[in-house]
Amino acid sequence: MNESSSCLFCAIAQKKINAQIVAENSSVIAFHDINPVADIHILIIPKIHVRGVNNINHNQADIMGDIFMMAQELADKYALKEHGYRLVVNTEAGAGQSVFHLHVHFLAGCEFSWPPGVSLSQK
Ligand code: AMP
Ligand code: ZN
Repeated sequence: MNESSSCLFCAIAQKKINAQIVAENSSVIAFHDINPVADIHILIIPKIHVRGVNNINHNQADIMGDIFMMAQELADKYALKEHGYRLVVNTEAGAGQSVFHLHVHFLAGCEFSWPPGVSLSQK
């Protein structure tokens, strides 16, 4: 069994599992996070299975651009272009990735702090 056949987000992209889809085109799909941490918390994913940032091939560069264009589309849809929003990509478990199908968190409607984490050497 390959990784994509048991992948939750592949199942969402293929409409085998329901999600609250907010936008979609031929290469990417955007849907509400099931456990939102902000008033607006949407996940943008490629329709093809890519585990994470480490696994993107050069020939998939267009699709990665499509993800950012979708973020811009959402910013327009929710009138956030001027105010702003945050995009987050957790890569591998050490950074908090829990679903191993590349996704960009589109976050807005909360207060954002920076830096986002505490250095391990300061703990
Ligand atoms: P990450 O921890 O960066 O891998 O983010 C995975 C995100 O997927 C989390 O914010 C989860 O709440 C979200 N999630 C998990 N299952 C679902 C689902 N069935 N539909 C929508 N979002 C989900
Ligand atoms: Zn997948």
